[in-house]
Amino acid sequence: MVNCIFCKIANKETSSEILHEDEYTLAIRDINPQAPVHILVIPKKHIRSLVEMDENDKGIIGHLIYTAKDLATKHGISNKGFRMIVNSGLESGQSVWHLHFHVMGGRKMLWPPG
Ligand code: 5GP
Ligand code: ZN
Repeated sequence: MVNCIFCKIANKETSSEILHEDEYTLAIRDINPQAPVHILVIPKKHIRSLVEMDENDKGIIGHLIYTAKDLATKHGISNKGFRMIVNSGLESGQSVWHLHFHVMGGRKMLWPPG
């Protein structure tokens, strides 16, 4: 997708610290971290938001969640606890219109979120 920052990162048109890559998924550090560990797990396929995934994307979503779990373990936040967040749509605060899972940990999280 032209002008999509996460597509550009996935296509290596823009550099980023890549923490994990496989056929379907890319994981990078968030450029503006909100926790000591703040990783974005991104499908390589351009899916605009969670509500715009289609039935064929179910497998990719499972793959993303499994990858997020592995990364949480690898980065030492799975035992104490971590949060996985998808912002979907304007009121959620979604700012990049390419689906991504935030994996955040390394500090005590607040509930309810803002
Ligand atoms: P959203 O608000 O859409 O849920 O989250 C978008 C996230 O992407 C934000 O946390 C923001 O800091 C991060 N982000 C935006 N542009 C870039 C970028 O170019 N590189 C990286 N690594 N993260 C980005
Ligand atoms: Zn994209």
